[in-house]
Amino acid sequence: MRIVQVAAEFAPFAKAGGLGEVIVGLSRELTRRGEQVDVILPKYDFILPHHLRQLQLEVPDFKTTESGKQVANAMWSAEAEHCRLHLLEARHPSGYFHRGKIYGCEDDIPRFLYFCRAVAEYLKLKKQPIDILHLHDWHVSALAPLIRDLFQKEVPVKAIVLTIHNIEYQGHCATHDLDAIGLKGERYLTPASLQDAVYPKSINLLKGGILYADSITAVSPTYAKEILTRANGFHLDATLRSVSHKLTGILNGIDYHLWNPASDAHLFAPYSHTDSLPKILEAKKANKHALEQRFGLSNSGRPWVGAVTRLVPQKGPELIEEGLRQTLPLGGSFALLGSTPSPKLQKHFESLKHQFEGHKQAFIQLTYDEALAHQLFAALDFLLVPSHFEPCGLTQLIAMRYGALPIVRATGGLKDTVFDCDDAMIPLSKRNGFSFLQATPQAMTATLQRALHFWRTDPTAVHATIQRVMQLDYGWQKPANEYLRLFKKILQ
Ligand code: ADP
Repeated sequence: MRIVQVAAEFAPFAKAGGLGEVIVGLSRELTRRGEQVDVILPKYDFILPHHLRQLQLEVPDFKTTESGKQVANAMWSAEAEHCRLHLLEARHPSGYFHRGKIYGCEDDIPRFLYFCRAVAEYLKLKKQPIDILHLHDWHVSALAPLIRDLFQKEVPVKAIVLTIHNIEYQGHCATHDLDAIGLKGERYLTPASLQDAVYPKSINLLKGGILYADSITAVSPTYAKEILTRANGFHLDATLRSVSHKLTGILNGIDYHLWNPASDAHLFAPYSHTDSLPKILEAKKANKHALEQRFGLSNSGRPWVGAVTRLVPQKGPELIEEGLRQTLPLGGSFALLGSTPSPKLQKHFESLKHQFEGHKQAFIQLTYDEALAHQLFAALDFLLVPSHFEPCGLTQLIAMRYGALPIVRATGGLKDTVFDCDDAMIPLSKRNGFSFLQATPQAMTATLQRALHFWRTDPTAVHATIQRVMQLDYGWQKPANEYLRLFKKILQ
């Protein structure tokens, strides 16, 4: 089967969050099984030659039309993480992919619309039949109407699949933004087409992906149900309900090449899920101790609770702050690694950091730091993920492989993967963390209390749980099976 994945991220070198990890994990697993997989992403300026192997100029010069003007591009091909990559170099006067970051530019809409049009032009040049064109999130959703309405005869695509990683981000734009890439914007401004449900003068790009895709997946079974509701559909629920026969939930995996404590070069002391319990505990202690020394924390033998997260409203930043404040009097230490695009939240958490400067049991770092994220997962006893909504969530899965027990709000993929240690209805062999239902400080604190009580009073059970969660298999094999089954079904 020939599968073309188009996305804005590819981990580890073009990653802003979970999306990049999903693209690499899924593509690698499908490639490993002998499927022909090509991944197309922008050639961002921060992708360096050493990230790639066999970098070659694949198409030296091809043009994209933007607002009637011709812009030159080149397509590069390379190998990375055992995947075949195609990197679009846009020689655009605005330096669309020379911003030192993936998202967060004022012109994100024209940047990614341009990318969609350039990908369509490239696929047209290549003329290779495609079985599955797999699109991810709003950034590349416009490819669906482009392929079906503008390039239908020239780009042979059997089926389009859209994966929704986070429905909150939808890509609202004006009709003239669509005009710029050759789709007549006004034509799409109807309720049955790409018109936004809240802003009737706006185009909603994700809605385009939803309507034009032959099949839609959401990144966990619970999230696939939640986005059909008014409470969690971010105004796309009605559209999704109208095409609900196309929607399935497939839980993400994690890529154990990227997240393996036995080979993780960032760790001070490596350890494996197959090691004996004493070896695991000793290595986790050494990893904790190294961070305690680095950050001037006391070596108190307290349990460590922490969060590794984007600080955005979705993730419950107010609950994370409360988690920090409550953990300390409960006798734990707290570590927060968080980065935020919001100046308001940045300011708020900077002042929190200031309050806890020099504290011996608390530590806050407000940057995106891949190495520290790995080191924290290895040092933590508990990972707090109090999200208001969570499409899948990868950090709870990573934490488990690194022997940290998740404390989560039961929503989306967190609900599908974390089973409470105190819930007698759940078989003991499945229990792997702690969860709460209400997104309130009270519910979270009560759960934090239960987790720390468990840690203190029943070390044998704690150790058995650590060993058990490390051995759980949340790799890509099962999700890849499900994707392949879906692809085959829609190709029938
Ligand atoms: P989302 O994609 O919504 O941010 P996920 O849980 O799916 O959430 O994926 C988050 C990924 O980003 C994980 O690999 C996590 O380790 C990483 N991450 C989040 N925040 C940071 C940070 N401040 N520094 C380093 N890595 C981070």
